[in-house]
This record gives sequence, C-alpha cells and structure tokens, in this order.
Amino acid sequence: MKDHLIKAIARERIERLFEFARAYAQSDPEAAREAVAIARRIAQRARMRIPKQYRLIFCRRCGNLFLGTGSFSVRVRDKRTTHVVVKCLKCGWIRRYPALKEKHIRSAAQKP
Ligand SMILES: [Zn+2]
Repeated sequence: MKDHLIKAIARERIERLFEFARAYAQSDPEAAREAVAIARRIAQRARMRIPKQYRLIFCRRCGNLFLGTGSFSVRVRDKRTTHVVVKCLKCGWIRRYPALKEKHIRSAAQKP
C-alpha cells in the first residue's frame, strides 16, 4: 500500500482514539489511557507524528491524559528563560515549553 494512504488511515484512527480518550478521560481513565497507548502504537507503526493538538494532552511516560483537574499542573517559570512547566501528577514526568516567542513580541512592541 502507498505510504500516504497508510498515513491517512493512521491519522484517522489516531484522531478517533484521542476523541475517545477525551470523552472518557473523566469517567473511565483506564480506557482513555489504553486508547492513548494504541494511538501511539499506530503512529509508531505508520512512522508519523501524533497531531499537535493531541500531542500536548497526554503524558509521554505513563499515558495519563491532561484533562480536568488533578491530573497535571501548569506553572510559568522565569528562571534563566521564561518557560511553561507541565507536570504529570501521576508519575511526576515534567515537560518544559519555552515561552520565548511571546517575549520577542513584547520587546518588539516596546520598540518605538
Ligand atoms: Zn505521567
């Protein structure tokens, strides 16, 4: 089968699995986690990345979904560089996202 066809099917399945995970994150977190695990496996097999809107909503280590309260924490830190810290409250996995873009916009706006 053609590579782009495999990727199209994979994307469709990944989307469906993440929508399922989103719907059941509160009522059945175990099923949601399982759906994330399957979606990641499909992405791996099709050698493609998980779409960005989904990539950010789960823990890379334990598959915990970052939805609702109590599953994750978000902090803005200003040590050395401004960055956002997302932490999984289930396994303690930490992900940092630089917030440099906004700083650039701000400093550019201040210039005459
Ligand atoms: Zn985790």
